Amino acid sequence: MTRYEPIIGLEVHCQLNTRSKLFSPCSFAFGDPPNTHTDPYVWAMPGTLPVLNGHAVSLAIRLALATHSRIEPISRFARKHYFYPDLPKGYQISQADQPYCTGGYVDLPETADQPSKRVRLIRIHLEEDAGKNTHVTGRDFSLVDYNRAGVPLCEIVSEPDLRSAAEAVAYLRELRTIVRYLGICEANMEEGSLRCDANVSLRRHGATELGTRCEIKNLNSFKFLEAAIEAEVRRQTDLVERGEPIRQCTLSFDPQRDRTRVMRSKEEAADYRYLPDPDLPPLQIDQAWIADEQAHLPELPGARRARYAGLGLSSYDVSVLTNEPALAEFFDATIELGSEPKSACNWITVELLGRLNADSKTPAQSPVSPRDMHDLLDLLKRGTISGRVGKDVFQKMYLEGRRAQEIVEQDGLGQISDANVLRDLVAAVLADHPDQVAEFRQGKTKVRGFFVGQIMRRSRGQANPSVVNTVLDELLASP
Ligand code: ADP
Ligand code: MG
Repeated sequence: MTRYEPIIGLEVHCQLNTRSKLFSPCSFAFGDPPNTHTDPYVWAMPGTLPVLNGHAVSLAIRLALATHSRIEPISRFARKHYFYPDLPKGYQISQADQPYCTGGYVDLPETADQPSKRVRLIRIHLEEDAGKNTHVTGRDFSLVDYNRAGVPLCEIVSEPDLRSAAEAVAYLRELRTIVRYLGICEANMEEGSLRCDANVSLRRHGATELGTRCEIKNLNSFKFLEAAIEAEVRRQTDLVERGEPIRQCTLSFDPQRDRTRVMRSKEEAADYRYLPDPDLPPLQIDQAWIADEQAHLPELPGARRARYAGLGLSSYDVSVLTNEPALAEFFDATIELGSEPKSACNWITVELLGRLNADSKTPAQSPVSPRDMHDLLDLLKRGTISGRVGKDVFQKMYLEGRRAQEIVEQDGLGQISDANVLRDLVAAVLADHPDQVAEFRQGKTKVRGFFVGQIMRRSRGQANPSVVNTVLDELLASP
């Protein structure tokens, strides 16, 4: 426990999944060969002019609505100047002092490790992405790929409300879930469609003034975000404890050494020579446009979590189901067919998800449909098959594409509920274990569980457990 608490604010960039770029009709797709998604505007050929992509604005409006933000009726684009080969124009078009969206918040759900928490947002703005430089080690040149240049981004800037690396991760996870529910961003950190910079400072517990912040750039995984913040807190704590000042700076994280490294002292806004872009008129967003986007909003993670909790699911189940929108949709489709929520949740989060994860498949690629799942749950509910047999049936459904009913009939897996049939089976088990029977009759009732196990094994899981219990009691009672 140190005398200082970390203060953290995140700047999160999310790539909007429009078909074309923010200011030109050029296409974009991740992973294509370098420089195959470019056009004269992207190369900054003289005479080309930007035209704003209206769909990008629509997606940005949805993000603002989902984060309870204020959408400004008028906002402006500005040129942010810097010189780097990934930026052909020599400036990036961004929004500076008049962003399209201000205020708002993201509520982090309660988990086993953390209470719920509200993280306030300063702003969200629209801007274009830059290209990507690749520095070739050992060579005297670098490569640049302009596919990403001009791709629309929303930058979401939080207030410095976060107090630990774990909280920062939880916040980024929640943002990721929100943009994926909205369907506005792939939110794949490895591919760079969701990226994050972390601002970190320290302050004495109980103090109200903020300390000097340092900004760690380009954290491209949850793991690195957490490790980088922890490393930066260590670096700043060391400085403070040695009585040295903290200087505002921009850092990078070195995962190999598990430490942050100063790249440069912090540039000031004035260094960028922001100026209003004379080629773009102000962006006007009217109420009709907002209402239209509001109508496009799906159920958001918070609302879905509350609905699932209302169905009696545990907070753990709720978090597993809602984490992945496609899994929640699978669950919804299954219960709409009439399945009981708790058992649907168990089978979907344990059997189905386990299998999908093992095969690196998404719920949308599941060979078992919600209808198939509902049929299986129905057989279980009616007692046609036991839970144990259900698991085998599920595997067969998944691998062979047969329906549950078909498998049970063709493979003779129906549950044995006939007391006469089970009586023979139970009698045989007891006859094979005379010593345990004697122990039981001497009062060691614990061996009862052993008999049940043997009976279930011998019936290949098909014996109806409640009938087994009745018959077993009956036979153990009779001398
Ligand atoms: P810049 O573009 O200069 O980085 P922004 O306003 O875009 O500035 O981002 C500032 C970010 O830094 C916000 O996320 C904010 O919460 C965070 N921040 C500001 N002051 C502090 C501080 N003292 N400690 C930690 N984070 C801070
Ligand atoms: Mg910044």
